[in-house]
Amino acid sequence: MRAVVYEGPRKVSVKDVPDARIERSTDVLVRITTTNICGSDLHMYEGRTDFETGRWFGHENMGEVIAVGDGVDKVKVGDRVVLPFNVACGHCKNCEHGLTNYCLTAQPKADWAGAAYGFADMGPWAGGQADLLRVPWGDFNCLRLGEDADERAADYVMLADIFPTGYHATELAGVSPGDQTVIYGAGPVGLMAALSATIRGASKVMVVDRHPDRLRLAESIGAIAIDDSKVDPVQAVLEETMGLGADNGCECVGYQAHEPDGHEQPNLTMNRLVASVRFTGRIGNVGVFVPQDPGGSDELAKQGKLAFDYGMFWFKGQHIGSGQAPVKKYNRQLRDLIAAGKAEPSFIVSHQLPLEQAVEAYQHFDARDDGWTKVVLKP
Ligand code: NAD
Ligand code: ZN
Repeated sequence: MRAVVYEGPRKVSVKDVPDARIERSTDVLVRITTTNICGSDLHMYEGRTDFETGRWFGHENMGEVIAVGDGVDKVKVGDRVVLPFNVACGHCKNCEHGLTNYCLTAQPKADWAGAAYGFADMGPWAGGQADLLRVPWGDFNCLRLGEDADERAADYVMLADIFPTGYHATELAGVSPGDQTVIYGAGPVGLMAALSATIRGASKVMVVDRHPDRLRLAESIGAIAIDDSKVDPVQAVLEETMGLGADNGCECVGYQAHEPDGHEQPNLTMNRLVASVRFTGRIGNVGVFVPQDPGGSDELAKQGKLAFDYGMFWFKGQHIGSGQAPVKKYNRQLRDLIAAGKAEPSFIVSHQLPLEQAVEAYQHFDARDDGWTKVVLKP
């Protein structure tokens, strides 16, 4: 089968690798029809992680079931499915509490959180930017789709990660009807958080970034775009909220936060959120921060430390929630919103390309080139 193979920093190739196959009785084998490139893939692509050369990417996957192991009894050959990026067993203490983002069975080591397909330090699970994908604990890890799966693939594939992740940011931030919500980052995750805040009934959604194309997408769903290369975003939020600050905010950038001029400053978005959110407000942080950022240029971030303004956070009595998203907690409801025509996460898709064009897609998406907001690959 073909796969998007990591060859070293900023180098991938599409080449033949051994076919994925059923290895255990609880496995499901999926022929991938749709698979996305994610901002999280870029951490590995840029060489910031210890992702091994020769492995392949892909944790936002959807396709058709072509084989099931003897121990699989719910999922059937022919089912159209989307796969939550969290690989989870369904039976451990955390999975039983809905915390599939912290599955104790699928994670690679006791002191490391989470497991995912095609990911550095997240277990041996192969990626889905390929013709075929082995899905472990298939009955638990497949979400079945309806008749319109093919026709609306660009919407449903977002259920694998970024739509539930954006929704999780708003859940952690406690976005409620009528709230005024600020979102830092208008990448795919930030835009999904903006969509989710709207679904949850926010009265005003403000999105901060500096890429005009991404800010236009935020405006297309009714959000207020704040360009931090032109205005002070904290001031802009205060002006929009009668000087009080937003009721809550979402961090959708992570440790790669930088100034508009490119200077990396990993604490920038967290500190701006503390300043933008009102006293006692909540912050949901889904942008990734890691115990170490070996590829980063910021000294503290290299040690996994963040000079976060805890004094102001404490003084304002704010709350924060963080971490990977437990996709299964939300994906059925979000699927049904898509099916009912009440959510169209595909508004962020800029390119739908054959798997063969993954090399140029990675280059453009990594450079945040104008117009490259979200790439969907079609093996
Ligand atoms: P992306 O890199 O495409 O988007 C990030 C955006 O942040 C860019 O548009 C960039 O211009 C903007 N940005 C950078 N510095 C900024 C600043 N100071 N202020 C405002 N905006 C700024 O990535 P993405 O795919 O949208 O993912 C965003 C983050 O979410 C990444 O860290 C990714 O790894 C993470 N993520 C987390 C989960 C989870 O489960 N928690 C899941 C998926 C992705
Ligand atoms: Zn992703």
